[in-house]
Amino acid sequence: MRHPDPEIQPFDLTMLYNDTPIAGLLDAPRGKPRLLVVDDQPINIQVMYQIFAADFQVFMATNGAQALAICKDNPPDLVLLDVVMPGMDGFEVCTLLKADEATQNIPVIFVTAHNDAAQETHGLEAGAVDFIAKPVNPAVVRARVKTHLTLKFQSDIMRKLVFLDGLTGVYNRRYFDQQLALEWARSARHDSPLSIILLDVDFFKHYNDHYGHQAGDDCLKQVAMTLKTSLKRPADLVARYGGEEFICILPDTAFDEAMTLARQLEQQVRARQIPHEKSAIGPFVTISLGVAARSEPDVGTESGETVNDSNALIALADARLYRAKSSGRGRACGG
Ligand code: GH3
Ligand code: MG
Ligand code: MG
Repeated sequence: MRHPDPEIQPFDLTMLYNDTPIAGLLDAPRGKPRLLVVDDQPINIQVMYQIFAADFQVFMATNGAQALAICKDNPPDLVLLDVVMPGMDGFEVCTLLKADEATQNIPVIFVTAHNDAAQETHGLEAGAVDFIAKPVNPAVVRARVKTHLTLKFQSDIMRKLVFLDGLTGVYNRRYFDQQLALEWARSARHDSPLSIILLDVDFFKHYNDHYGHQAGDDCLKQVAMTLKTSLKRPADLVARYGGEEFICILPDTAFDEAMTLARQLEQQVRARQIPHEKSAIGPFVTISLGVAARSEPDVGTESGETVNDSNALIALADARLYRAKSSGRGRACGG
């Protein structure tokens, strides 16, 4: 049980993640939550700093333009915003934050000495989540910040979950479709390489029949985790494409490199030594893979078509996966 008194209980982000049924699916954010305090009076910033420094990383801005720049370059988790400031006032800062897609999800709490109803309404209409009167009461401001941060992290989690596969925690088909379209366009624009790897667990029906569906699910989780940890570049992406099929997008990766990577993935899954008594090709779970690149020397030799959109790229990878299956499984096939 957490202590009910916010003065005593430190703010713990990992707890937020670990308390939910999706623990393990998402990486909990590291470090302390980030708080931006905006006030033209350094003494007011000082007061807030003393209240929050123990549990938060506190950033400071003494005018609106500075606050906007920090929010854009290095977004905080929450902003405590003064209303009356020379130049751009707090309402304007808040309105601009809410108008920009990159900053609109950062909760803003106004902190002001002028706490009449009209001001408060104005602030809330500008998109703020709360309004706190100066001079602040430390316990109250801490409690409110904690509440709004919790809500913010919960909505971050929800936004991410929309794009994750519920079983394995890798990206889902929806996210894959969106990203492939983006990467395809980027690759075409810069004429940079782009490869994909489509892969499928071998004899998985037998696996399920023999070990049960629950064990099948666990096996898929292990395969997904292996793929995720084997892909090292930040731009690489693994998604669950269908039942026991996964797909990787490899931006800036030429066909030969993708082939090498596919063979490594095959080896890594094999090296997990997940027992599979009913596999016809060995004692452990294996995968088959098909590799395709946007521009490879003799693109389209498989299907007789050229790869001029992302669907054709997937079709080519699929044809090669099929070839990997029919030529023995537990291998990668390319051009
Ligand atoms: P191949 O080597 O040719 O790929 O044969 P296979 O048995 O793996 O392929 P097939 O398409 O015949 O069977 C796939 C099986 O995967 C059937 C289906 O029940 C199982 N499967 C699909 N999604 C899930 C899932 O989420 N969990 C579990 N446990 N099984 C799944
Ligand atoms: Mg299969
Ligand atoms: Mg399949």
